[in-house]
Amino acid sequence: MALPGERGVQIHGSTVVYRLVDGGLPAGIVGQAVPNGPRRCLVKVLRPYQNNVMLVAHELGHCMDFQRLGPPTDIREGDGCVYGPYFCGRMEGYAQTYARVYVRKCGPSLADLGVWWATDEGTGCVPPRAEEVTRADLPDN
Ligand SMILES: [Zn+2]
Repeated sequence: MALPGERGVQIHGSTVVYRLVDGGLPAGIVGQAVPNGPRRCLVKVLRPYQNNVMLVAHELGHCMDFQRLGPPTDIREGDGCVYGPYFCGRMEGYAQTYARVYVRKCGPSLADLGVWWATDEGTGCVPPRAEEVTRADLPDN
């Protein structure tokens, strides 16, 4: 749930709440996306990583993946290994590819992700829809 004073942003029909945290994430994890209701998603980012656009975009990718309306992604188990062992699972491979597509499309903007702590102005670029991110967007392709 959103904390008092937290406002969600609407992204492709989902309400996304971004939250900076000082801990409370699983060991070694610096960001986390948690579905918390129908088409609602909470993104937690460990404060020292707040300006890491790839990380925040990765977490938004999980939110879009959780709440996609279209068919499942064609990104498969193992595809994300190109990014490193952490990303081998289907969901992690998808989220990292989402982040890659986001930066390619929108550049390194936190504002365009709807992040309230962004210091850039953004360009009004709209983050990708879940179905815009496919195997063709993996680095090998
Ligand atoms: Zn992830």
